[in-house]
Amino acid sequence: MDVQGQVALVTGANGGIGTAICRALAKEGYKVATLCRCPEKAARWVEQEKALGFDPYLVLADICDQDGVFSAISVIEKELGPLSVVVNNAGITRDKTLRKMMEDDWLEVIQTNLTGAYHLCRAAVPQMLEHKYGRIINISSINGEKGQLGQTNYSAAKAGLHGLTMALAQEVANKGITVNTISPGYIATEMVMAVPEEIRNSIIAQIPVGRLGDPAEIARIVAFLASPESGFITGSNISANGGQHMH
Ligand code: NDP
Repeated sequence: MDVQGQVALVTGANGGIGTAICRALAKEGYKVATLCRCPEKAARWVEQEKALGFDPYLVLADICDQDGVFSAISVIEKELGPLSVVVNNAGITRDKTLRKMMEDDWLEVIQTNLTGAYHLCRAAVPQMLEHKYGRIINISSINGEKGQLGQTNYSAAKAGLHGLTMALAQEVANKGITVNTISPGYIATEMVMAVPEEIRNSIIAQIPVGRLGDPAEIARIVAFLASPESGFITGSNISANGGQHMH
């Protein structure tokens, strides 16, 4: 099966890892639909990408809003065609120790990182079932595998993505649809590069390969899991963390 012209949707497209994923999928020949929530930021990002030769198809939605996600998916289907690939990449952190973590911090992180992925899957799976083909890729985190202090909310949401992945993978395995997670370790995005150098160096000291990951390294894994050749991999998790957490 040729991926040329297949439709791939990436959430949180204008972020560090999202941008790399969009570029990698566009290079493979997918029609890339990009879901962003902030019109101004998204417009600036589209201009920046156009200048580099990638012309993203933009839809605006907040992944926490089920109705917004459903209308975004139906617009994409009408304009570009049925979805073959969904990459649930949008995510946030609201780090605090549990003692200081208010219910809003908890809910916002669960709703974005976990419920958001559920909304996308609910909206996209019927199309994929109809066409008997699909690739769903959920971007989790090393901290959903091993936990991280100050991140009970984020670790729970990212661990929850593994459960969602394995359960949904079983529901759709015999329909040509695969569902997998990728768990990145520390990746050199703006968020991580904004951490003071001293702290960043202490993080790097915990990574056996001795460096942060590059967003393009995560994007390559996405491109592989998105491809028709990855059809025997489902319900899996690919860890990409420079050896920081081996299991
Ligand atoms: P960024 O903060 O650069 O990007 C996150 C993206 O998600 C942004 O585009 C943001 O939009 C979008 N987003 C957040 N909330 C919503 C929402 N409610 N609706 C729609 N879009 C939303 O982060 P990264 O690129 O670093 O991270 C991407 C993914 O990788 C995340 O899921 C993150 O948890 C995961 N990850 C990152 C690691 C790292 O080291 N960077 C390590 C492990 C996992 P906006 O710009 O408008 O805020």
